[in-house]
Amino acid sequence: MVSGASAAAPPLIALTGVRKRYGGGSSGQPETEVLHGIDLEIRAGEFVAIVGQSGSGKSTLMNLLGGLDRPSAGHYRFEGRDVASLDPDALARLRREAFGFVFQGYHLIASETARENVELPALYAGLPPPARADRARALLARLGLADKTEHRPHQLSGGQQQRVAIARALMNGGRVLLADEPTGALDSASGAEVMALLHQLADEGHTIVLITHDRGVAEQAHRVVEIRDGRIVADGPGPGAASSTSAASAAAGGTQAATAPMPPGSPGPARAWHADLGEAARAAWRGMGRNRLRTGLTLLGIVIGVASVIVMLAVGEGARQRVVQQMGTLGTTIMYLGGSAPAEGGPPGRITDEDLSAIAGLPDVAHVMPVIGDPIPVRRGRLERQVYVFAAEWFMPRVHQWPLAQGRFYTEAEDRALTPLVVLGHRAKAHFFPGDPDPRGRQLLIGDSPFEVIGTLAERGAESGAQSYDDMVFIPYRAGRARVYRVQTQPDYTVVAAASPRQVAPAEAAIRRLLLARHGRADFEISNAAARLQAEAQTRRSMTMMLGLIAAVSLVVGGIGVMNVMLMTVRERLREIGIRMAVGARQRDVQRQFLTEAVLLTLAGGVAGVLAGGITGAVLVASGVPVVFSVRAMAGAFACALATGLVFGWAPARSASRLDPVVALAGD
Ligand code: ADP
Ligand code: MG
Repeated sequence: MVSGASAAAPPLIALTGVRKRYGGGSSGQPETEVLHGIDLEIRAGEFVAIVGQSGSGKSTLMNLLGGLDRPSAGHYRFEGRDVASLDPDALARLRREAFGFVFQGYHLIASETARENVELPALYAGLPPPARADRARALLARLGLADKTEHRPHQLSGGQQQRVAIARALMNGGRVLLADEPTGALDSASGAEVMALLHQLADEGHTIVLITHDRGVAEQAHRVVEIRDGRIVADGPGPGAASSTSAASAAAGGTQAATAPMPPGSPGPARAWHADLGEAARAAWRGMGRNRLRTGLTLLGIVIGVASVIVMLAVGEGARQRVVQQMGTLGTTIMYLGGSAPAEGGPPGRITDEDLSAIAGLPDVAHVMPVIGDPIPVRRGRLERQVYVFAAEWFMPRVHQWPLAQGRFYTEAEDRALTPLVVLGHRAKAHFFPGDPDPRGRQLLIGDSPFEVIGTLAERGAESGAQSYDDMVFIPYRAGRARVYRVQTQPDYTVVAAASPRQVAPAEAAIRRLLLARHGRADFEISNAAARLQAEAQTRRSMTMMLGLIAAVSLVVGGIGVMNVMLMTVRERLREIGIRMAVGARQRDVQRQFLTEAVLLTLAGGVAGVLAGGITGAVLVASGVPVVFSVRAMAGAFACALATGLVFGWAPARSASRLDPVVALAGD
């Protein structure tokens, strides 16, 4: 036993009566005690070998020493502090700052390079990336691996992998190196190299606990502790002690690896969240690349979900806007009134001027506009066309919510005075006055009367019925009756505008009652375009919502896919999780990494989904389906995908973070 260490300072490691039991309780396994009361003190700077046969409890002891596991009974004090009282994050911190593990199976992360593996403990200690990389390279160079820094574990020999693992153990300073059968998997030459390295590190002041079943290896240490069936049966100086200069340094009570050529990685303060996120994203990217087909198939679920949300909403919105457009053309307050043969037989009724004045007096009615319209020949010089000539009163633009592009509409006074004025539809102007920007003041021959052009209406665009409004020309109602439609004794139909969209139904009912009273029979017909359109718009809205809902369900299905893949990923990467925990990752580091993976997965799916939705929409547009994309719907679908990732990634990430480090390390 090493003596002479500073009596005042507590030993670095002090176990008293430590027991470890497995099973029992709720685990369903029979309870077995593996360690039966271990008392052990290790001072800073010692080089101790723990030797024993396979199954004697060495690894269990090492896991306890390294803070990977906790004793079932007894006390473990590290530098006088009771380890049992530490929560998982404090244990992670202890592992990160005090310990470096070297395992028989190296336990390197296969998808990362030697340098990245070495950097890992510093990553969790918060060392900035450049400092991390420099230190990792320097450590690897020192261990003779300068030219292997960017190699992956499978490109390295066993001895080289073990040296990478030792470099990793030294990354945060490696005050205490815990090496569990470090030479167990190596050929004798590589094993000797590793042992030489441990000697050198011991000479530099690192505390080294070497676990081995091989007495020959153990006897190279300065102190040999023998364990048998969970009990310490011998503890004394090893034959190697005398031959080494480091006994003195250990005895001098070097409290830490201060003499190590590398300063311990300084654990930075709170890390910037984006640096964390960047690391997690990088790891996530690798994780996803590991199984491309599976990742792709899972992505497909999200892609389809996002794309269908976008397309469904765009199609629904397109249909709704088409209805709204028609409403604009026809007006949301408009009804059509005309005579018709009553159901009980007899001639169709006549809507007289007196009927119209009575209707105009109803409280819910804003405008009553009799219309005569027919396709008749219209001429300008030698240019003759069959044009729908629409004769209506001065407030036609107001009833149809139709602004003028140029000039003016005729006035009530001009209508009463039978003034021959004409306002052109957008296309009618192009037909009769091609190349003339302002045809006002020119004449058109309608039927056989000359009419003066005084304005042009704005382009209506939307098609409503067979006739395009833009092809028509508009003349005052009375001038029309007097000069063009001379034989016509009554309007073709009458447009009745209610005072507001809400008043359409009461107005219709009132008109019905009024005409029934005046005519004594139902010899008229009211076509309530407004109510029809309102109902249709409502239907479209519900349909859009339903389509959106169906699409949202497919997004949820995609999310379940993500969850499934993440659960599998966690199972497959148990060992990686264990390694990360052993080098000091906190639960939240592990959780963040897997959550980031899930979110990245859905984010990638979201991007692809938006693209796929856009392409589908473009194809639909090309084939004539009205589609209206809204940035809101796209952002919404994207946000949904993100939320899906968070929601469905959370449980797997949490289960990964709650893993027992020892169990995870043992996993495959
Ligand atoms: P060594 O490293 O000396 O070979 P271990 O510490 O790995 O021994 O194991 C000691 C004993 O504890 C063995 O009998 C082993 O079966 C048992 N043991 C180890 N881990 C567990 C566990 N998680 N559950 C139940 N028994 C375990
Ligand atoms: Mg073991």
